Amino acid sequence: MPAFAKEFLPRVRHNEPMSRHTSWHVGGPAEIYFTPRDRTDLAAFLRSLPPQMPVYWVGLGSNLLVRDGGITGVVISTQGTLDRLDRAAQDTVYVEAGVACARIARQCIKWGLGPAEFFAGIPGTLGGALAMNAGAFGGETWRHVVEVETIDRGGGEHHRPVSEYRVSYRHVEPPVAEEWFLAARLRFEVRSPEHRSEVTELLERRKATQPIGEWSCGSVFTNPPGDHAARLIEAAGLKGLSVGDASVSLKHANFIINHGAATAADVESLIARVQDEVQRAHGVRLQPEVRIIGQPAEGSR
Ligand SMILES: Cc1cc2nc3c(=O)[nH]c(=O)nc-3n(C[C@H](O)[C@H](O)[C@H](O)COP(=O)(O)OP(=O)(O)OC[C@H]3O[C@@H](n4cnc5c(N)ncnc54)[C@H](O)[C@@H]3O)c2cc1C
Repeated sequence: MPAFAKEFLPRVRHNEPMSRHTSWHVGGPAEIYFTPRDRTDLAAFLRSLPPQMPVYWVGLGSNLLVRDGGITGVVISTQGTLDRLDRAAQDTVYVEAGVACARIARQCIKWGLGPAEFFAGIPGTLGGALAMNAGAFGGETWRHVVEVETIDRGGGEHHRPVSEYRVSYRHVEPPVAEEWFLAARLRFEVRSPEHRSEVTELLERRKATQPIGEWSCGSVFTNPPGDHAARLIEAAGLKGLSVGDASVSLKHANFIINHGAATAADVESLIARVQDEVQRAHGVRLQPEVRIIGQPAEGSR
């Protein structure tokens, strides 16, 4: 465990429960949890870390399953920081990684730029949306990216064009490991003043079809080619299947709900049960969209 310089101490937390920082409200402690004040602070902090110390980034934890034994190393949180959002040109916005997707949607609508409505219902940050190529209702994050700014372990900043990334459905392959998103330039169409935003309708559609307000991570599995994970799970008769206090949502079969007392181990074993049952019923192995990280709890290893 490194001894951190005095300047960082107010922003360093030891053994921070990740259940406080994930939308499933499960997960053991991060050994070190750091929220940078700004870029300079972040770069100096990264530079101060021993080279072998693992580093992991989180936004709003809305696509993360952290195991009950927690995370060894450092977790960098962009929540409440890196929050600049500017209009960079008539059709381009500059967005830092900690900005909530809903804010991008709201601001773009105000500026007459679109289509950005799909961001409205994604409860994460731009950083998470870049890492996941988050999308909804036909919209996708990377369709709008012109350029990203990244930071490496040594605190060095880079500008990278889209062409350096391999991007596909909910998947982004960066050109180098251990480089994280600081910001992006996103391009949209300039809309006519008569254009009416459909954000209310999209949010209503979500509310009608998804268990919004309950503890989940959104869709647990990616859709296999030509099909929907939710359809396969429902057709296998798995709605309502539970492990501990976690269950497959009755409203949307690709959501797993923590009803309040589930552990990460409950959620992870329910994910495995669903994969096995769907494979048995349909011959398809569903792949998790959610990122599963950290160590199992002591005793269950
Ligand atoms: C109710 C609900 C509905 C949802 N609906 C949708 C939907 O319609 N479409 C969709 O695509 N997703 C959806 N999600 C999933 C989730 O909101 C998205 O994947 C979102 O983009 C994750 O953002 P985050 O900030 O929460 O990332 P986190 O969950 O904190 O992290 C996700 C991944 O991104 C990485 N990451 C985070 N920030 C950075 C950074 N700055 N640099 C590099 N890597 C980073 C993390 O290391 C991790 O691997 C939903 C989730 C919930 C709970």
